[in-house]
Amino acid sequence: MFDIVIIGAGFSGAVLAERLASTGKTILLVERRRAVGGNCHDHRDESGILVHDYGPHLFHTDDEEVWQYLSHFTQWTPYQHHVEAVIDGKAVPLPFSLDTLHEVFPASMADRLEEKLLAHFAYNTKVPILELKKMGDPDLQQLADFVYKKIFLHYTMKQWGKTPEEIDGAVTARVPIYIGRDRRYFQDRFQAVPKDGYTVLFQNMLAHPCIKLLLNTSAQEILTLANGEIRLFGQPFAGEVIYTGMLDELLGFSHGELSYRSVRMDFETLPVAHYQPAPTVNYPCNYDFTRITEFRQIHPVPEAVQATTILREYPQPYVRGENTAYYPLFTQEAQEAYSAYAREATRYPHLHIIGRLADYRYYDMDDAVRRALDLFQGWSR
Ligand code: UDP
Repeated sequence: MFDIVIIGAGFSGAVLAERLASTGKTILLVERRRAVGGNCHDHRDESGILVHDYGPHLFHTDDEEVWQYLSHFTQWTPYQHHVEAVIDGKAVPLPFSLDTLHEVFPASMADRLEEKLLAHFAYNTKVPILELKKMGDPDLQQLADFVYKKIFLHYTMKQWGKTPEEIDGAVTARVPIYIGRDRRYFQDRFQAVPKDGYTVLFQNMLAHPCIKLLLNTSAQEILTLANGEIRLFGQPFAGEVIYTGMLDELLGFSHGELSYRSVRMDFETLPVAHYQPAPTVNYPCNYDFTRITEFRQIHPVPEAVQATTILREYPQPYVRGENTAYYPLFTQEAQEAYSAYAREATRYPHLHIIGRLADYRYYDMDDAVRRALDLFQGWSR
C-alpha cells in the first residue's frame, strides 16, 4: 500500500510528490491525462519549436526558495517576457506605461499626462486600472477612460464574458498601469523558461523510485469519499490524500457545478522565420481571440529554421467533458459556490486541497510551487 495518494501531476501535485518521496514516503500519483505537467505541459512540434500546449507559461518569481528548488530539476534559459497590444491598429508596449502614453497620444498631450501621473503617483509604481478610474482629475479621468476602453474592456469581455467591474479587481490588477519605462511584462527578480521545457522539468522531478505514476486515470476510478471516510481501490485508506483537481467533481457535485473558464488553443505553423513584433501580441479591441504568442521568440531555434509556430487563444465557457478548465471564475457568486465545497472537504481530515483548480485561485506557477512547499514544510515540522 502507499503512504500518500496525490491526485493531479501539475505543479502542486508534482512538487508534493517529489518532496514527500525525498523523505522516503511512498506515493501514488494519479493523473487523468496521458502526460504529466498539467496545464504547463509542452512539447516540440514538427518544426522543432517548443510549444506550450495550454498557452504561454513564462516563469517569474521573487521567491528565491522556489527558484532554487525548481533549479534542481532544470537548467534555465533566461527569458524576460515582452507583450505588445494592438490599439487603433498599432502595436504598443503593454502594460500601459509612460512609453505607451507617448506612443498613443500627441507629444504635448502625452507630456501633460505624464506630468499629472507623476504628480499623483511615485515613479516606477503600478496602478490598477480600476483605481485610476477613480481619480478626480479630469485629465487622468480621460486617460483612465481611454486605457479602460482600449486595453481592458473588450479583452476582459472576451476572456471572462464579463466586464472588469463584474470580476475580482485583482484580475485586471495583474496588468497594471505602469508609472515607469520598464518594458518588461514582469518585474520579478527571477525570470526564465526551463531550457528543455516544462514537461522535462516535471519528468525529472518525478523520476524517484518512491513515486508510482498512474496516468490515464481519474480520481473517481480509484477513490471514494463518503461520510467522512476515504476509500482507495475499495478499501478504507488511512493515509493522506492530496487533491489538486476540481472540488465539485471529487464531492459528487453535491452543491452544483463550479464555474471555470476555458480557452480554445489554435496553433498554426507558418513557413517564415518571424511573425510578429513581440513574443505575445494582445488584441484588446478586435477579433475573437485575445492574443497571439510566437513560441520561437520564447524558446529560440536556429535562425536558419524557416518556420514559426503561433498560438491564437479563443476564450470560451468551460463545459464539463468537452473542454479544459483553465481559470476559476472570479465572480463573487462563483467564489461563494466554491466555499460550500471547501466546507464539505473539511469533513475529511486526511484530505488536503491544493492548487489552482482545487483552491479555486488564480495562482501563477510560482504561487503553486510556494503553496506546495508550505504544505510540505508544515507537515515535516
Ligand atoms: N487584461 C486586459 N487586457 C490585456 C491584458 C490583460 O484586459 O491586454 C486583463 C484581463 O482581464 C486578463 C487579466 O487582465 O484576464 C490578466 O491578464 P494576464 O495577462 O495576467 O492573463 P493570463 O496570462 O493569466 O491569462
